[in-house]
Amino acid sequence: MEVWFTEEWLPGLRISAQIKSVVYTKRTKFQELCIFDTVEFGRMLVLDNVIQTTEKDEYIYHESLVHVPLLSHPNPEKVLIIGGGDGGALRETLKHPQVKEATLVDIDGEVIEAAKTYLPSWSSSFSDKRARVLVEDGLNYVATTRDRFDVVLVDSSDPVGPSEALFRPEFYSSIAKVLRPGGVMCAQTESPIATPAVVRDIFHRISRVFPVTRLYTAPVPSYPGGWWSFTCGSLGSDPKVPMRKPEESWELKFYSPEIHERLFILNPKLKKDVGII
Ligand code: SAM
Repeated sequence: MEVWFTEEWLPGLRISAQIKSVVYTKRTKFQELCIFDTVEFGRMLVLDNVIQTTEKDEYIYHESLVHVPLLSHPNPEKVLIIGGGDGGALRETLKHPQVKEATLVDIDGEVIEAAKTYLPSWSSSFSDKRARVLVEDGLNYVATTRDRFDVVLVDSSDPVGPSEALFRPEFYSSIAKVLRPGGVMCAQTESPIATPAVVRDIFHRISRVFPVTRLYTAPVPSYPGGWWSFTCGSLGSDPKVPMRKPEESWELKFYSPEIHERLFILNPKLKKDVGII
């Protein structure tokens, strides 16, 4: 008998993936956590019935989220990751030799523990000496911490459930306060195809706080619409302009300096939807 996982992308639009085996399921304090092995996407993490990351395309998402802001910052020594409990963003962050410490703050310690056991290719960097892992609400953390960072990455789930707080205007204001001078933030900011109004609202929230705001996009086939957006807010350098190149030893599969520049090329409809002149 065939078993399929189905996620509703929009009312009237669903994506299904055939499951080979159910690896792990758990009702945590915050969400329904499932890890599947699927026929086409490989291993897959699902939270509250929404695909978070898959073996087949996670490299596109994580390399885009991490290397664009880190390579356009002059010296990213201290990095904060909010969310990202699977460990993929941490893995990419710790490839940068400039990074002395990367702090990951996820509200759900059970996602981190499940990733350590069942998502080894994402979570390999949790054991790195430079990694500091805190189980806490990201909104509360940025509002109260005395730590300061060069780069803040927001690797949240969609703006419903526990992640809703990570899209509020006060969250972006608090991020600006925890950044050192010249700091950069970068957040995953949803689908230009499925939810363009959400992309627009987040862009304007960030642009009210940061002197430089830049939107870029990348293909992520397992996310709604197959196309994803990221928004950077910068207190200094322009995230569009890379300052360094990735190293060969990082063995990147998506990011390159040419791709960096191309990700920022926005099509006319997206510019209009977001209100970018
Ligand atoms: N790349 C994924 C995406 O775009 O769907 C997100 C991956 S990551 C698994 C999302 C993480 O955000 C989850 O581990 C979840 O526990 C965490 N999270 C949700 N709300 C949070 C909050 N308020 N503070 C910190 N982490 C949060």
